[in-house]
Amino acid sequence: LVERSEDIQKSRAELPIFAEEMRIVEAINENLVTVVCGETGSGKTTQIPQFLYEAGYASEGELIGITEPRRVAAIAMAQRVGIELGKPENVSYQIRYEGTRSDDTNILFMTDGVLMKEMEQDVMLKKYSVILIDEAHERSMYSDVLIGMLSRIVPLRAKTARPLRLVIMSATLRLDDFTHKKLFPLLTPKVIKVDARQFPVTVHFEKRTPDDYISSAFRKTCRIHETLPPGAILVFVTGQNEVRQLIAKLKKRYPVVYETDKNGQVLVKGTKEWKEKKAEAAKNIKLEDFKEETPEKDELDTDDVLDADDINERGAAEAFDDYEELENGDGDMNDGAVENTIGAPPVNCEPLYCLPLYSLLSMGKQRRVFDETPAGMRLCVISTNVAETSLTIPGVKYVIDGGFEKRRLYDSITGVSRFAVCRISQASADQRAGRAGRISAGHAYRLYSSAVYQDCVKFADPEILSKPADQLVLHLKSMNIVKVVNFPFPSAPDEQMLEAAEKRLCRLGALSETTVNGKTVARITKLGKTLAVFPLAPSYAKFIAMADQHDLMNHAILLISLLSVREPLIPVSSLRGATPEETKELMKNVLKERRRWCTQTGARRLGDLKVLMHAATVAESVKYNARECEKVGLRVKALVEARKLRQQLTNIVNASCKKEQVAMLDAQLPPPTEQQSQLLRQMVVASFSDRLARRVDRSVGQEEVQKGAYETTLITEHVFIDPCSVLFTEEPEFVIYQELVQVNEKKLMTSVCAVD
Ligand code: ADP
Ligand code: MG
Repeated sequence: LVERSEDIQKSRAELPIFAEEMRIVEAINENLVTVVCGETGSGKTTQIPQFLYEAGYASEGELIGITEPRRVAAIAMAQRVGIELGKPENVSYQIRYEGTRSDDTNILFMTDGVLMKEMEQDVMLKKYSVILIDEAHERSMYSDVLIGMLSRIVPLRAKTARPLRLVIMSATLRLDDFTHKKLFPLLTPKVIKVDARQFPVTVHFEKRTPDDYISSAFRKTCRIHETLPPGAILVFVTGQNEVRQLIAKLKKRYPVVYETDKNGQVLVKGTKEWKEKKAEAAKNIKLEDFKEETPEKDELDTDDVLDADDINERGAAEAFDDYEELENGDGDMNDGAVENTIGAPPVNCEPLYCLPLYSLLSMGKQRRVFDETPAGMRLCVISTNVAETSLTIPGVKYVIDGGFEKRRLYDSITGVSRFAVCRISQASADQRAGRAGRISAGHAYRLYSSAVYQDCVKFADPEILSKPADQLVLHLKSMNIVKVVNFPFPSAPDEQMLEAAEKRLCRLGALSETTVNGKTVARITKLGKTLAVFPLAPSYAKFIAMADQHDLMNHAILLISLLSVREPLIPVSSLRGATPEETKELMKNVLKERRRWCTQTGARRLGDLKVLMHAATVAESVKYNARECEKVGLRVKALVEARKLRQQLTNIVNASCKKEQVAMLDAQLPPPTEQQSQLLRQMVVASFSDRLARRVDRSVGQEEVQKGAYETTLITEHVFIDPCSVLFTEEPEFVIYQELVQVNEKKLMTSVCAVD
């Protein structure tokens, strides 16, 4: 039985979907596959799992499973639903590294990659009575693949005593992709549309598209705040840096000045409440919200790490913001000039309550947007496209849409990826505008002309059409899908791309070709099955599998975790202290320390495998304390991410190895012996031979070649070492890299390691 608090009941009753409970539950009861589409904020994610719970879908120990394309959403929604149901212990989440799943779990929110992994163990998903694929319109690769898989599993489970139901939940309508005959040849999915109680939103275009939309977003925010009636403002920008930049500018113009009275209450100066000395004004103020954001100097926050998740790469684009900083100096803009064009703020201007929102922000800080805004202040959320559909911010009346988003683009031939700022699709622009009409009539200000809007694509391409397919193909093969080209994808990727991936997997030994009735088919090998168990690119997994034969498992896991994150060591030239003197001191100390590491490990240079592994030991010994790591020039976030991956790989190896070779984690791993180091180096070169690069020798008639140029076997163009790497200035003859990323004119090798 469910007992909800009055507050919760009231807020549920306000959701458009609330009145539709009967209709939705009936549709799901009577149909194996249901597609529910409804405006963002109508209550799909938070309510439908509860409807199904109350309808008995978890009553016989079965699970209600919901997949999300983003980790943020999986965690936030599990918490919210737990609270709404009044049973937090029965609603859990599971993301790549962590989760709260237990024997008490009835409703499980997870990332789509997590469910894919689970299907490898149990393809029929016997533990579940219903699977909800949420945010299906986002078209993340694994959500598409799950829909394809489930289109075949649902009819099979229907023949058993315990059928499985599939619910596809989506915001914008492009239903054909989810209901076409190739996907569901025998059954017709039931389609339900939930009407949103959506108030009209007036859309405003600019006459001219500005060159610098951040300045223009700043001016627009000021104008709204200073002249328009109450209501929260939501601004869409592309990444974490832009969020911080804009917040800094707004805070400068509308400084939040506060005082603390003798009872410890915080009063924000300038609000009506402050003038009347009402203590309630302080109710929701958290002082840390008003401190300048200096993320590098923040105490370590384990939620706030880079998203290096291979399976679920949403949010990864934000992680690459560092590159922009490199390119554009410290990102300071010409504040003075902007201020001049809009004049000083009115004397009586209310303070502005600015909150950031992006995937890599810690959970605690993300949740602030759901809390009540302090009395007498206007809420202004500066967000990346997380706020487009995943999270609904209450009280928004004004939306400012910059018109761009950061996307990861892959070159399907070379696999080179780059993060590009692209125009959003018309569907996204409409989603963003819709955010303004949740509580009353609203306004959406598009910082571009209507001609630009007309030129935008209607919908963005599904991720599956462009992403390298190796891991995907391996997953499908491990589930005994032999003819991947015949797989019922909602949108089928290019056949040549799939075939190229098969070829690479054959070369790796993960697949082997056999001839059946005169046709060649590639089936998964024993090695392939092992590789598929790891949440890693197949060649990384092979490295670990090879280590098993050489008793190097512990070291191999450590090394792979370190190679999977971005540059654990900070180059000396990038170190910064609070003052120039401190910077100098810091550089000196780090240099000394690093020389010591080299001597201690017998490494020839810094970017050596041995030093990399030593760095992890150092971080471990100071318990990943941010300040301590900083003192020796370590990127604590990268090392924490590596630690999590190492833990996960260790668990996998322990669960699947028959041998008693328990990988060691908490005990300090002894450094590799000279012989072990040699072996590891050979294995690295062998496993990553397709990611080996050699410095171009400029002395032999190649003077016109740019400094720092390397040649690879993959592309004819020269590539360069990531400036974030300690090897940037060292330029060893041979390096291996993990990925090529296009940044402006150059292709950069990331996570570089010296192998000469
Ligand atoms: P949909 O999935 O249809 O977009 P949701 O179920 O996510 O809609 O959201 C329904 C409502 O619940 C929204 O108005 C949103 O503001 C509110 N909500 C969601 N999460 C929280 C939370 N953690 N705290 C408070 N309100 C929330
Ligand atoms: Mg939702």
